[in-house]
Amino acid sequence: MNVDFNSLEVGYDIPAAPGMAEADIQTPCLVVDLAALERNIAKMQNFADEMGVRLRTHGKMHKSADVALMQIAAGATGICCQKVSEAEAFARAGVTDILVSNQVRDPAKIDRLARLQRLARAIVCVDDINNVAELSAAATRHGTTIECLIEIDCGAGRCGVTTTADVLAIAHAIVAAPGLTFSGIQAYQGAVQHLTSFEERKAKIDVAIAMVRDAVDALKAEQIECTIVGGAGTGSYAFEGNSGVYNELQCGSYAFMDADYGRILDGDGNRLDAGEWENALFIFTGVMSHPKVDVAICDAGLKVQSVDAGLPVVYGRTDVTYIKCSDEHGVITDPDGKLAVGDKLRLVPGHCDPTCNVHDWYVGVRDGVVEQLIPVTARGKAY
Ligand SMILES: *Cc1c(COP(=O)(O)O)cnc(C)c1O
Repeated sequence: MNVDFNSLEVGYDIPAAPGMAEADIQTPCLVVDLAALERNIAKMQNFADEMGVRLRTHGKMHKSADVALMQIAAGATGICCQKVSEAEAFARAGVTDILVSNQVRDPAKIDRLARLQRLARAIVCVDDINNVAELSAAATRHGTTIECLIEIDCGAGRCGVTTTADVLAIAHAIVAAPGLTFSGIQAYQGAVQHLTSFEERKAKIDVAIAMVRDAVDALKAEQIECTIVGGAGTGSYAFEGNSGVYNELQCGSYAFMDADYGRILDGDGNRLDAGEWENALFIFTGVMSHPKVDVAICDAGLKVQSVDAGLPVVYGRTDVTYIKCSDEHGVITDPDGKLAVGDKLRLVPGHCDPTCNVHDWYVGVRDGVVEQLIPVTARGKAY
């Protein structure tokens, strides 16, 4: 993108322009380290290839069509989305294989889902037999086909059925319904992903795998094949990937990483950010005041991040600590008085997904220079 800043009379609505030095980027905004992102994308694809499973990355994390297309170019089979509006934004931008890994019950949204199939392969999750008739009617009305996965609640306590008998009953209804195709099982154990202990995550995913295997075997006994058996996130993908039952991984956060995922431990007791995954996403912030000798105030507060999983961590520094925030301010302790007004810092956000969703742009940086601006395509697409 080429922008002539002098031609804009009332400022500009982008935080940086290609060619700028990182230090000149307007703060606060999101910076993406492109080389780290590329390495994370290649690495997860490689893990999936080695385990012999497909990777269907979760687009709800980055909400960026450009990042999704990078993941697909690296080998991903398609993406997951959580909402129909989000799926539409990705489809308009050229993503052609989309799983809405969620329930769609509002008639208007079901209608849009049925129309989406004209632009992309559209797959949705079902956990209630009454939803089958709703989806079927919409697909028939629009002359399209909606692929359905039955969602199993394998421990997260959110949507999903909990018995193989329910899976079988809904599967038979889908198979019999005009306009619908039965494509398999959705089983994401969201509640284990951020548990620190590797053993605890493994034990809970073993329970999920057993539930899914039981359902897949029971379907097979009735001649119903699962094309997709999907689930898994950044904290668990190796368990599902090596299960012999799952064939699609839905990891999202690995591409950008965040402070909360950085803290969890792998099988060797190492932090996930100690080598397996690199921090590629940063909240870039500027120091705007140094009101006390040992306190600096930066411009990244609650409006540019989600702190539900903890405060951001100042990247690469142990001498200064981000300790609290309000709407537009972040308080950083600076015991040795190292910071000065105008300094710019990279913060690793506590939780990537809801942080990305409050920004319009990622500023893509390589070797300290802005290379490209990447729009957060599906920003705000929560309906
Ligand atoms: C969020 C989500 C994921 C991705 O998980 P990460 O922990 O971000 O890797 C996968 N599947 C579903 C259904 C999700 O909602």
